[in-house]
Amino acid sequence: MPVAKRPAVKAPAGKTKSQPKATVKASIRTKPLAAKTKAAKGSYDPVAPERVKDILNRLDQRYPNVRCALHHNSAWELLVATILSAQCTDVRVNMVTPMLFQKYPTPQAFAALKPEQLEPDIRSTGFFRNKSKSIVGAAKGVIEEFGGQVPDDMDKLLSLPGVARKTANVVLGSWFGKAVGVVVDTHVHRISRRLELTKAEDPKNIEQDLMKVIPQAKWIDFSHQIIHHGRALCIARRPKCAECPLENICHAADKTWSTVEIHKGAKP
Ligand code: SF4
Repeated sequence: MPVAKRPAVKAPAGKTKSQPKATVKASIRTKPLAAKTKAAKGSYDPVAPERVKDILNRLDQRYPNVRCALHHNSAWELLVATILSAQCTDVRVNMVTPMLFQKYPTPQAFAALKPEQLEPDIRSTGFFRNKSKSIVGAAKGVIEEFGGQVPDDMDKLLSLPGVARKTANVVLGSWFGKAVGVVVDTHVHRISRRLELTKAEDPKNIEQDLMKVIPQAKWIDFSHQIIHHGRALCIARRPKCAECPLENICHAADKTWSTVEIHKGAKP
């Protein structure tokens, strides 16, 4: 893995300018640069099982018992909420869904609508025309193909309009407890690359890479934890690296605080 020239390390919020500089330099100097460069070039493997295990353990400690942030009381409600969450915050979706499910309590109620009738109720989540078509289409599919029950099978879920792997993985993992794949949303996409768990750029290949390096028993938790991490610390712009439990094993090129060499290839 090539080693990039270390960028200027900036002081985290709440610290004086002189203290963090001294801390970083002291930490970096604990190993000769030549030794670290050799290690990075020669033996460093970002997806080595022990490194992945370390990442998972730290996530477990920092984010224990994390759950899906979308409010729901059934597989159908979770399916609808996940469709609505595309390009929208979970907070916004949770503001919309209580009224929505009160007004239309079953897949049958949604299936009876024309998409245009649904649009005003979900307008605030964005992309409401496409989302309306997807939800009404999915409701019809659930009724006509699956007897009104959301299926607990990846291929069957993918046959529903508007349902791609991310939505299917959310429903399978969070409602049915089935680890069939890894949810790759915007946070998982960004952070998996920062942590060098994948070099892929599209969600499909990112998921395939994650399924290879993360034990299947952790697929569901990993997604939830990374999504929480992406909201709390590893945000898209100016991640809060000084507060991050993964900092000393993260080599992301856009770190805002670093005690380790960063890697040119570890871009979000
Ligand atoms: S150290 Fe920074 S970039 Fe790396 S995972 Fe933590 S917050 Fe994200």
